[in-house]
Amino acid sequence: MSRPQDPLISVIVPCYNEEEALPILFQRLEAAMRSWPGRHEVICIDDGSNDRTWALIQSQAAALPHWRGHAFSRNFGHQAAVSAGLAKARGDAAVVIDADLQDPPEELVRFINEWQAGYDVVYGVRESRDDPALKQALAWVFYRIMEKLASIHIPPDSGDFALFDRKVVDIITRLPERSRYLRGLRSWVGFRQKALVFKRHARAAGQAHYTLRASLQLALDGVFSFSTVPLRLATYLGFGLCGIALGLAGTSLLLRQWPAALAPLGLGPEALPSSLALAVALFSGVQLVCMGVLGEYLGRIYDEVKARPTWIIARSAEDPH
Ligand code: UDP
Ligand code: MG
Repeated sequence: MSRPQDPLISVIVPCYNEEEALPILFQRLEAAMRSWPGRHEVICIDDGSNDRTWALIQSQAAALPHWRGHAFSRNFGHQAAVSAGLAKARGDAAVVIDADLQDPPEELVRFINEWQAGYDVVYGVRESRDDPALKQALAWVFYRIMEKLASIHIPPDSGDFALFDRKVVDIITRLPERSRYLRGLRSWVGFRQKALVFKRHARAAGQAHYTLRASLQLALDGVFSFSTVPLRLATYLGFGLCGIALGLAGTSLLLRQWPAALAPLGLGPEALPSSLALAVALFSGVQLVCMGVLGEYLGRIYDEVKARPTWIIARSAEDPH
């Protein structure tokens, strides 16, 4: 695997109200990247902060020419900030790291070494995390559900701390879809992927901005962008309901003929469901199946609108003539 002679690594830092963490990050990130012999650039995306985040980024960019910053017009969210950073990256590889030092910058060199060894996507997997218990528990449940639902394998407990080769950056940046669940897209692109286990620390300073609501939103984006199972739910429920209604109708018809069979249970024929109840159940089932059919078409439209390429070729061996 050949990598460029004098590679440039882009480090992308999404920042939202991180004035407390940034001074420490600037120092540790720059020190970590200097311990690596190649060139690097750092791109800070200010995601509509309303504290001194942008002022800090500006002064860092003024002091060090390989540091750059871009500020959003308002808060567009973490995934948007990372996507913007990837679009602005000029490097032969790009790494995404949180501003709050939960992902230790000192680990970056390991990521870069794996890239130079030939991996195109290197992602961090949390060996442990210092987050609050509720958040940890919900994350655990979410990753397990996702594993069952998603149409591709998205490694559990992997966050956004990751390195992408230039070709992967280009593919992800060109995807037109709007709800960007990057951890999913990262798995979806394929190529040679490598997991690196690391210890996720507590925030250096400030507060988490991913509220429970924002995390839930991200989780839903993950499920709906990579699974059509929820769309099929109506179909499954509908068939289930029709089955139950038909079964009940059959049994009650039989039992009406032989009421003696009910006697040992101490029940009379009035205990049987009315034909009206059965009809309601049956037609509710039919309606659900019809909704499921609509859902199938909707799912296909959704896939078309996402416009992900149907395949990505990594290598070709061809006769040059
Ligand atoms: N972040 C962002 N926009 C947001 C929320 C967060 O750019 O709307 C950044 C934040 O500054 C940090 C990273 O995304 O660098 C992760 O956010 P946070 O630490 O709040 O999430 P957690 O680590 O709790 O998942
Ligand atoms: Mg954090």
